[in-house]
Amino acid sequence: MSTLPLFPVTTVGSWPRSPDLLRALRERRHGTLSAARFREVARAGVREALRAQELAGVDLVTDGEQTRDNFYSFVAEKLDGVQLMTLAEMLELVEDKAGFRQLLDTLDVPAFAISNPTCVGELKLRAPLAVDDLDYLRTLTARPIKVTLPGPYLLTRAMWVPEATGKVYPDKEALGEAVVGILRDEVERLARAGADFIQLDEPVLTELVFTQGRTRTFMCAALAARNDPQEELEFAVSLLGRVLEAAGDVRTGLHVCRGNWSRDESTLLSGSYAPLATWFERVRVRQLVLEYATPRAGEVVPAGDKELGLGVVNPRSDAVETPAEIRDRVRAALRHVPVERLFLNPDCGFGTFAARPMNSPEVAARKLAAMTEAARMLRGE
Ligand SMILES: [Zn+2]
Repeated sequence: MSTLPLFPVTTVGSWPRSPDLLRALRERRHGTLSAARFREVARAGVREALRAQELAGVDLVTDGEQTRDNFYSFVAEKLDGVQLMTLAEMLELVEDKAGFRQLLDTLDVPAFAISNPTCVGELKLRAPLAVDDLDYLRTLTARPIKVTLPGPYLLTRAMWVPEATGKVYPDKEALGEAVVGILRDEVERLARAGADFIQLDEPVLTELVFTQGRTRTFMCAALAARNDPQEELEFAVSLLGRVLEAAGDVRTGLHVCRGNWSRDESTLLSGSYAPLATWFERVRVRQLVLEYATPRAGEVVPAGDKELGLGVVNPRSDAVETPAEIRDRVRAALRHVPVERLFLNPDCGFGTFAARPMNSPEVAARKLAAMTEAARMLRGE
């Protein structure tokens, strides 16, 4: 396994797609593009995303999630039993239509984000979720590689729509079991294939603690099943534990942020991670990959015995943070985390949703370069 320097610089995963790739993603969705041709275009995107990271001096690289339409609904392409549903299709399906309409009115996620991967049949892996992408990236670079996967709680919560799923899985817990099985297998394969870092994305955990009963959500499917937040967190921790143990000795990460779909910071959730701290403690993950670059994120919460992937740049702004600013953020965080346990990352991806990237590749590259410069300064101290 490759070694990392002190203050390793990495990303949270996604990278803005090229116009060619956006077109290819659209055509694939409409079924007018062959799988072979799509792969060719996506691979060109992977090479571009990798080149940008290598030029900027990133230590732990990703494939930029170039083959995915977004960080979780891409599983619909890979799993039997999952169908992407638009809001209109979901409205058709749910029993409480008036309630669903009312919830949609208060939803703060625009329609682009909510073609929901809904479980409509028995889940079965049709194609690898990520291991083929890892294999390809490995042919291009000798640098350590991070692979991102949607977390088991995120997937279970998105896929569980009782009216559609209940015929196959009696309850959310049963669906969770199936999701855990799929993710465990993939994590095992990734570990065998030489992934240096496996990151699970669970952005909805913040939604559980910050919304306090108000209807703001990342996904419409979740609207159907509102539960006690503590119960949901308990469920999330148990699902995560079973997926993470499949990683063996490979470094694992858990990414939790407050949403990354808008440049208008006021529409995104805000609040410190403090209410999640005791839950984080219970998750056997090596690293917490968190956002800290905007005031919305609040104070740094001690990571206990875990590593901290510290968010030091805002993926949604044009202004490029200076290396000195980034260095100062790291210095402040070092009051809570030992020096050998701190990684530098942006708050979230630069292109979480393919059709709605939060930045241009040019600005994103400059932010990464500022991060590596800050890391160089810190290593010199
Ligand atoms: Zn994020």
